[in-house]
Amino acid sequence: MTAGSAEGRCVACGVGVPAGAAVCPRCGTSQRMEACPHCGATAGATRDAEFRFRCDVCGGPRVPLDTKKMRRSGKEVTALKRAELARKGRAKNRAAAVFTGVALAGTIGILAIYGLLGVIGVVNPGLGFFLASLLTAGPLAALIAWFLARSREQAKEIVPALDEAWLSVAADVAAQIKGPVTARALTEALPIEEPQAEEMLALLEAHEIIRNDGSLTRMRIGASPDKPDLAAVEAEAEAEAEAEARAPGVTREKV
Ligand SMILES: [Zn+2]
Ligand SMILES: [Zn+2]
Repeated sequence: MTAGSAEGRCVACGVGVPAGAAVCPRCGTSQRMEACPHCGATAGATRDAEFRFRCDVCGGPRVPLDTKKMRRSGKEVTALKRAELARKGRAKNRAAAVFTGVALAGTIGILAIYGLLGVIGVVNPGLGFFLASLLTAGPLAALIAWFLARSREQAKEIVPALDEAWLSVAADVAAQIKGPVTARALTEALPIEEPQAEEMLALLEAHEIIRNDGSLTRMRIGASPDKPDLAAVEAEAEAEAEAEARAPGVTREKV
């Protein structure tokens, strides 16, 4: 399953894709197959309005990398799973709201028909019937409101979780970029455009992962400035040493 990694055709639309291109120039489908953290399938990810990128197999949110040389730490998986849980929760609550809505409409319908039959004298609906119907309709309406509120709550969790996942991958990328971390360098590694890359840079800076000159601070997400994450610092130093070994001519500003 390495379709499209060499020059070839887009795995989705079949248009010619230049060698090394990570996404199709026409439809934007990722040509880089990676194991999905949700479904485990080795599959590409496609652009999505809400989830930015989603798995071609299970539809779960993904953060694809554009450059084969870049490695991911996998730290984004927790946040991605949170976004996926929220997505599934929202779908369940929406479905429950619709189902309850149908039940409510049915109750009101029966009440209306029975009332009409009463008016034209076919049946003699007792007060008990109306009370029972109202007592069913009331709780059903409340239940619908509750399901809808839950689905809205879950929808609210999606964007922050996605932001966290993307920031985590951007931090991985930043640690592997040779030289200063710039918006352009980020667009080369992640499937984002320059304006989004600028935002990402600002976020990386705000989280003290890079400085405003684009150099690494050796701090990672979740590590406060006075309590750096030692494992992350070591991993970064290792990645940096490797990067320098590959490109001995490149000198970096030492921290
Ligand atoms: Zn395509
Ligand atoms: Zn998947």
